[in-house]
Amino acid sequence: MADDKFDVIVVGAGPAGTSAAITAAKAGLNVVLLERGEYPGAKNVQGAVLYTKNLADVLPEFWKDPTCPLERYITQQNVMITAEDSAIQIGYKNEKWVKEPHNCYTIIRVNFDKWYAQQAEKAGAQVYSGVKVSKLLREGTKVVGIETSEGDQLKSDVVICCDGVNSMLAQSIGLIDEWKADEVALGVKEVLSLPKERIQDRFQLEGNEGSTFEIFGGVSKGMLGYAFMYTNKESISFGVGCKLSHFQKAKIAPYDLLESAKKHPVIRRFLQDAKPMEYSAHLIPEGGYYSLPPLYTDGFMLAGDAAQMINPTHREGSNLAMTAGMLAAQTAVEAKKKGDFSKNTLKAYQQKLEASMVLPDLEDHKDVEPKIEQNMDLLTVYPDMATKALFEYFTVDGRAKRDVQKSIFRRIRKTRSFLRIAKDFWAVRKAF
Ligand SMILES: Cc1cc2nc3c(=O)[nH]c(=O)nc-3n(C[C@H](O)[C@H](O)[C@H](O)COP(=O)(O)OP(=O)(O)OC[C@H]3O[C@@H](n4cnc5c(N)ncnc54)[C@H](O)[C@@H]3O)c2cc1C
Repeated sequence: MADDKFDVIVVGAGPAGTSAAITAAKAGLNVVLLERGEYPGAKNVQGAVLYTKNLADVLPEFWKDPTCPLERYITQQNVMITAEDSAIQIGYKNEKWVKEPHNCYTIIRVNFDKWYAQQAEKAGAQVYSGVKVSKLLREGTKVVGIETSEGDQLKSDVVICCDGVNSMLAQSIGLIDEWKADEVALGVKEVLSLPKERIQDRFQLEGNEGSTFEIFGGVSKGMLGYAFMYTNKESISFGVGCKLSHFQKAKIAPYDLLESAKKHPVIRRFLQDAKPMEYSAHLIPEGGYYSLPPLYTDGFMLAGDAAQMINPTHREGSNLAMTAGMLAAQTAVEAKKKGDFSKNTLKAYQQKLEASMVLPDLEDHKDVEPKIEQNMDLLTVYPDMATKALFEYFTVDGRAKRDVQKSIFRRIRKTRSFLRIAKDFWAVRKAF
């Protein structure tokens, strides 16, 4: 490395870290970005839907760069509610999403992270892969640099720590404890190759349009979580994610859950003849607002998954990470101007997050998972009830419609009173 004292050391070349490195380097700071993987993205896992707005704040008009490895732009978003042999599908399409700038894209993280780190290099940051940061260097309460697992020491005015879920570095200075099993979900994912013409036919897409499915109900076998299915250019990303504590309690192996979701009678048609190319698993921090750690201290800021910045209700994480990384870097730029990297100056990072969508979204959705967890019927009893009602409603069996309707209401009342149904949904609605 050319220097051993930097303005900013960024740990981790994921969405948070690379966004921080680009922003700080563009502002003229002397930045190094350190990534433990053999190359950026080597071990990173995501669905993966990438949101345009948050990336464009860091790299304006990134979609115009022909080297940017985007898969498909999303024009259809679907929710599927599954029971044993049936599914309700609610889809939304909008012609506005066909035009640039698109709302969001699918990406493959291995390709995207590599490209994104190259943009950090172009902006002037030094980027080193295969470098594991093992320790934070401190003088009193102040973080003054890092030590790598090979024993090299680098000094800086500030460390922006973006080392992902279970941040060892934030743990080492007491900002977080190891997450408990109910503060994280475990996501498992396969990329399945399928010729692009088949993808377009099956998902009713033209050209490079893409489609997303979030799949609830029976597929998660009574656990808090859901499956997802996203179209790439010539592959489909299919995965499931459930609370780790639920996997442990149900004694269901994540891979078995993935396999059983793929075999669901409605889902399997989308995946037929698709060939598994890659399998991966990763923790997702889902403790949310209640698990947010302190986000800064003297000479140190924490961003992205390392700080539990995930909004599972809206399948957003990488975008919160990008915005948080960018805001941490902007705070570092202001601190450099003041010549003061104490926590008194770095508290501006927290204020910026409060003024952005990051902390408001985490706060507003803090009770969604706890409320659903208190009433798991929402993911088991109700999907079953709804699919059975629709089966009766759509089946022509010689009965008069008034008798069909009476039968549907009788069956619903037998399972749950209407007052109980109203109460169950009101409790969750209030959490949004
Ligand atoms: C199955 C799954 C599906 C998901 N789907 C979506 C989705 O569709 N859309 C979305 O927005 N989000 C999604 N997410 C969440 C998203 O992946 C994360 O929120 C996002 O990756 C967080 O970015 P980050 O930079 O904070 O952390 P990461 O992406 O985890 O990056 C951390 C980086 O730090 C490096 N690192 C760790 N320790 C060290 C060390 N000691 N020294 C050096 N480097 C280190 C790691 O190798 C890694 O490159 C999904 C997550 C999973 C698991």
